[in-house]
Order: sequence, then C-alpha cells, then structure tokens
Amino acid sequence: MHGTRILEEADRLMTVCNSCRYCEGLCAVFPAMEMRRAFSDGDLNYLANLCHACGACYVDCQFSPPHEFDVNVPQTLAIARAESYAAYAWPRAFAGLFARNGVVISLIAALSVAAFIFGFAAAHDRQVLFGIHTGAGAFYRLMPLNAMAALFAAAFVYAIVALVMGVRAFWRDIGEPVGMKTDAKSLWQAFRDAGELRYLDGGGVGCFNQGERPDDRRKLYHHLTFYGFMLCFAATSVATLYHYLLAREAPYPWWDLPVVLGTLGGIGLLIGPAGLLAAKWRRDPVLVDTQRYGMDAAFTMMLFLTSLTGMALLIWRATPAMGALLALHLGMVFALFITLPYGKFVHGIYRTVALVRYARERQMMSGPV
Ligand code: SF4
Ligand code: SF4
Repeated sequence: MHGTRILEEADRLMTVCNSCRYCEGLCAVFPAMEMRRAFSDGDLNYLANLCHACGACYVDCQFSPPHEFDVNVPQTLAIARAESYAAYAWPRAFAGLFARNGVVISLIAALSVAAFIFGFAAAHDRQVLFGIHTGAGAFYRLMPLNAMAALFAAAFVYAIVALVMGVRAFWRDIGEPVGMKTDAKSLWQAFRDAGELRYLDGGGVGCFNQGERPDDRRKLYHHLTFYGFMLCFAATSVATLYHYLLAREAPYPWWDLPVVLGTLGGIGLLIGPAGLLAAKWRRDPVLVDTQRYGMDAAFTMMLFLTSLTGMALLIWRATPAMGALLALHLGMVFALFITLPYGKFVHGIYRTVALVRYARERQMMSGPV
C-alpha cells in the first residue's frame, strides 16, 4: 500500500517496466528501477525526481495507450514529482496553497511589496519618487539601504531555511541518513549530470516535447535559465562585496562587473523562461501534469518578470521612471524569494539530490558510473 493514488500507479508502472526493460538505456530512471524488486514511497519519489520529463519512454513504449496496460511513465512521474514537492515542503500548508494558485499568489506578493514601497516613498516625498537620481547611492533615495537589506535578507533567509527543511525530508525519505558524508566522486558525477542535463536528451536523440520529432530546445532553454540565474546571483554577490568591502555604492556604470554579469544573466533569464513557457504551451498534454500547470508556470513567469523589470531599471535608471521601476523590480525579487520553496525552483534541487543518490547507488553496485 502506498500513501497516494499516484504512487500506487507509479508502483504498477515500475513493476511492468521492470519486466520489460526496453527503455533501460534512455535515462537514469530505468537503471535505478532495475536495482529494486519492490518500491517504497521514498523509492518512487526518488525515481520521479530522477526523471527529466524527456518523453522518450512514452514514444518508445509498446504498452502506452491505447494498449490495455496503459503505460504512461512521463505523466505519472510528473504528477508524483509535483506531489512530492508538496509533501516535503516546509511549512507544508503553504505548498498546497501555492499548488492551486501559484501564479496569482506570486503576482499578488510582487505587486503588494511594489505598491508598499511606491506608496511609502510617495507619502514621504513625491520629489524623491519622481525625481532624477544619478550617481552612487541613487537607489537608496527611494528606500534606505538598511530597510532594503533587512527586507530582502529576511526573505532570503526564510527561503533558505524552508528549502533546507524540504531537502532534508526528501533526503531522509529516499533512504539516505541525514548528515551522511557523500563521497566526492558521487557528488562530482551528480553535479556534472545535473549541470549538463544529461538525461534530458531522450537517450541521445533529444527531448520529445510535442509530436514525435525530438529536439534540444528544452535543454537549451533550461541552460539559459539556470546559467542566467547563476550570473544574476554572481552579479548581486559582487555588488554586495563592492558595497561592504570597497565602500562603492550602486548603481554602477555599464562596464562594471556587477552590471556586465547582471546584463548577461538578465538576457539568459529573458530568453530561457520565455522559451520554456512557449515549450510548455506546445507540449503534448499526454506527457504532463495538467492539474499543476499554474505552479509550474508561476516560477518561470516570475523569473521572466524579475529579469524584465531589472533590465528596464538598467535602461531607464537615469530617468524619472527609476522610482517606479525600482519598486516594481524589488517587488518581483521579494515574491521570487518567498515563493522559491513552493514552486518549480525545487525541481532542480531535488533532481540534483536524486542524481547524488543515483551516483552513489551505481558506485556501490558496479563501480564508477
Ligand atoms: S516504458 Fe514501456 S517500453 Fe519502456 S520499459 Fe516501461 S513498459 Fe517497457
Ligand atoms: S520521460 Fe525521459 S527521463 Fe523520464 S523516465 Fe521517461 S525516458 Fe526517463
């Protein structure tokens, strides 16, 4: 007996697949499945998060609908994966709320914070809000640095704590003791596989997004999104070091490192999420969890909007629009932070953790992967 209906279905499919084994060369899910004869809830959540949703095993399967075996591994694992995000989330009640109303909650949070900053500045001094500010410290005329740092540090720390609690629960559930020292070789293998999106290639031919003609577009858009996010994170980190170590205040000139990193990352975060949303729109519904389209789309949309408002702020920062654009951008960043633990962001973390587990299993079973 399993905890949910979808885990019962995943167990049925993995039992069929374990007898068939036709797909064992497509990705990591099938070799991991073959190491087991029975599946606990944790095993099935592990396999669900190992799946990269390339769709190849549905296209290749001789038992997919209308066959009476009704084998649809990508969709079943997509639903199990989404339910696992909610099951491991901390606090759990927030995850259910977000799964049902992800887009609306993200937008309300972003616009509320933007409206608060905008209204606070307008009530304080309209000249500050609509004036032209240039040079070091220009942004802090709208919102004092200490208030900005306190607000975003609190949101960031909350997101980190919630994410750590979620990963801890996942790690424990898939059979790894908390605090266990993972060997460096497995970690390296897992990070390399995650960084390359090794298992999003349908066994070498590409991802089946719509129809039966595979391509690498989803992989490309994922890479642009991930590396764009990392570049923006690097830009923020460098700007923090500038501020506290070199006493250099934002905004910085176009050619300076935080702006160069942020611009490159911002471009990645415009093209990548837009491409992922378009791919999601065109994706064959038989492969996806259609019930949680909003939760999936919310995170991608927030990344896009955060980048869009950041780029707009960069372009118009020396105009009277700076105050409104900064308030809007800060609202987007705040909403992105507080919704991180409950949206699609966690899929990258859980998938990497599942890849660590997989690399360790392969090491233990048969030596290096
Ligand atoms: S998905 Fe279909 S073809 Fe692939 S292993 Fe399972 S039953 Fe066999
Ligand atoms: S959808 Fe792709 S990654 Fe997922 S189980 Fe099937 S072949 Fe593997």
